[in-house]
Amino acid sequence: MIRTKLDSKYQIIQNNLKIDCNRCSGLCCVALFCAKSDGFPENKESGIPCKYLNSNFQCDIHSKLIEMKMKGCIAYDCFGSGQKVTKDIFPTINWKMNKDKSKEIFETFLVVFQLHHMEWYLLESMALVKDKYLLDSIEKLISKIELVLKQPYNKILNFDLNTFRFEVNPVLKSISKQFASNNRFNEKDLIGKNFRKANLDGHDFSMSLLIAANFEGCSLKNTNFLGADLRDTNFRNTDLSSCIFLTQIQINSSQGNSNTILPEHLTYPISWDKDKIYK
Ligand code: SF4
Ligand code: SF4
Repeated sequence: MIRTKLDSKYQIIQNNLKIDCNRCSGLCCVALFCAKSDGFPENKESGIPCKYLNSNFQCDIHSKLIEMKMKGCIAYDCFGSGQKVTKDIFPTINWKMNKDKSKEIFETFLVVFQLHHMEWYLLESMALVKDKYLLDSIEKLISKIELVLKQPYNKILNFDLNTFRFEVNPVLKSISKQFASNNRFNEKDLIGKNFRKANLDGHDFSMSLLIAANFEGCSLKNTNFLGADLRDTNFRNTDLSSCIFLTQIQINSSQGNSNTILPEHLTYPISWDKDKIYK
């Protein structure tokens, strides 16, 4: 299987799904519920700003997140919904200055997150499939998301996400089936498993628990990681460039180094800088 280069129109959409925290009002650090046990600084309700979010919407401890073992903060990725909501949907107001609108801003962020998440998988699928009928279906679904996101926030909030999910899921399932191989472990719980240097080409790890599993030096051509839990999974010195259905959140929560090769559309996590891996 070879990933097809997306047309420039879709490349732009894919780039917009990358986070740009400098163009955001720190939405994830306010709008989300956080638990200390998940690697956030404190337990907090949604709608309450994190104590480290400063008046410029920047994180006061950003450079110390690794040292302070804030794994939740390091791993989080909003698929670009933060800057989309801040700059495109609410360009003239923000949750801090316009408290009467903060609830709507946070709710819109949560809806946009889900739409961008689906769009991420649809774009990945678009690069993988050759079937014209499936490609048409994917294009229509992406167009629909883009149209919804061009609307004012009240229309976005009224969008029937559940019904739309029923349109998206069968397409993704059908694509996932095309890549489902018989190379699959019977158990989904593979926590801590040592696969070091194994040939796992074409293996199907979708929805598997791979927390702290060791993939160092494995061959992972066309290996499917759809929805797998990759917290602390070791990908040091490993080529992931042709793995499929990997997301930035999965990569951010795993461990790698400068010898790890990522698919082109993913970014090296800050925690992998200079081989400085948190334990
Ligand atoms: S919501 Fe997204 S863009 Fe905004 S600060 Fe959080 S991760 Fe960055
Ligand atoms: S510590 Fe920083 S990144 Fe984490 S929630 Fe607080 S402000 Fe956001």
